[in-house]
Amino acid sequence: MANITVAKFGGTSVANHEAMSRCANIIKNDLNNRVVVVSASAGVTNHLVRLGQADVPAAERSQILKSIHDIQSAIVDKLQDSDELKRTVAQTLDQLATLADVQASQFNAKHADEILSFGEQLSSLLFTQVLNEIGVSARCFDVRQVMKTNSLYGQAVVDTEGLKTHALEQLKSLLADSVIVTQGFIGQDGLGHTTTLGRGGSDYSAALLAEAVDADNLSIWTDVVGIFTTDPRITDQARAIPEISFGEAAEMATFGAKILHPATLIPAMRQNIPVFVGSSKEPEKGGTFIQQSVASNPTYRSIALRREQTLVTVKSPAMLHASGFLAKVFAILAKHELSVDLITTSEISVALTFDNPTGSTQSVINSNVVAELEQLCEVTVEHGLSLVAVIGNNLHRTKGLGSSVFDKINDFNIRMICHGASSNNLCFLVPEQDANTVVEQLHDTLFAA
Ligand code: ADP
Ligand code: ASP
Ligand code: MG
Repeated sequence: MANITVAKFGGTSVANHEAMSRCANIIKNDLNNRVVVVSASAGVTNHLVRLGQADVPAAERSQILKSIHDIQSAIVDKLQDSDELKRTVAQTLDQLATLADVQASQFNAKHADEILSFGEQLSSLLFTQVLNEIGVSARCFDVRQVMKTNSLYGQAVVDTEGLKTHALEQLKSLLADSVIVTQGFIGQDGLGHTTTLGRGGSDYSAALLAEAVDADNLSIWTDVVGIFTTDPRITDQARAIPEISFGEAAEMATFGAKILHPATLIPAMRQNIPVFVGSSKEPEKGGTFIQQSVASNPTYRSIALRREQTLVTVKSPAMLHASGFLAKVFAILAKHELSVDLITTSEISVALTFDNPTGSTQSVINSNVVAELEQLCEVTVEHGLSLVAVIGNNLHRTKGLGSSVFDKINDFNIRMICHGASSNNLCFLVPEQDANTVVEQLHDTLFAA
């Protein structure tokens, strides 16, 4: 075996039989592709998120199960030797229906993760068959055998050392004979329960597997021809970036560029595995190469946007000249497993942001957290904000940065500017309804052709 490439296909890439066939050809055309990581077919995880909630009426549950059945059956129907697979898919869908039909009191985060895992279980079974039918010897592997995690359901943390050991024992030897197709996004805790790594987590699964099998490359196949200067859905002026450093791409992912799950580049950077991002629909168009060092390091590289941010402001006169106040605030947040993104402080108040996206499976600011914080201080919670991040190089040493960024968007109510902690970003909040226009105008200013 010459090289090992781990290839990951996202939801739209495995949405239907046609899309799966295109991806299968990508695998066939480069025999270095030995490990394939798939997401759930587009739309399925959103359905499963709803199915994992307790308050869903019976009629809606049946409708969701039917929608998932229809998406997957449309693929099965186009397969040739599908009798055995048909039975397996039908059994898997029956198991899902049984899990969805428990008493309201049995719905919890663990149960939700079990349900969520069905999207990737089904797509990996189907994709294996699509590969076999075009003459690629492929085998479906249950990633839960090697992707061991803690029990933080919805946002589980992977045991990366364990993954390496298990991959060496159970996975690596299989690669010589067949292409291994496995699931992104899911894992298993020490008690044998299924866990998930957070929405969009298949990118991260693929990177972790690339590290564990000592891969030479990681390819992320998606629905755009690489990483752009901003989300191409926001402005048609966005341009594909041919190459970008690990650090810049990691900042983009952290600040909401949906193209990559925020943690994806951590394993790639640890092991210096170059990452390619391209479109499974148009593989011939090339894409973006992410690597340790690149030829150019421009001041402005991209603009990322993260929607549905919650801003919490805590205020207490007791904070003035006092020590230990922030530690108490953070202890409460840590207890509720809430991760803070941005922070700004003034003498008697602190503003903090939290990610709070719809369909998220992670902990969110709720009335219990607010009640506990209120024992310490006055608390204001604001929703409906978006985080805009300008990403680049040496921003802390760039003269006139403030006027370049803010002059053209001075019609908008900018909140909570954060700059200085990193040389690679400047970020701020804007009202949700202004977010697209702000990014568009900023993009015109910073990336004028
Ligand atoms: P997948 O299902 O393949 O994981 P995602 O929907 O998670 O795909 O991510 C791809 C999407 O990311 C694109 O369709 C695009 O709208 C969005 N996106 C956000 N920021 C960027 C960016 N800077 N460059 C390219 N795509 C971006
Ligand atoms: N299927 C999961 C999701 O939609 C994981 C992924 O697509 O990366 O979040
Ligand atoms: Mg994704």
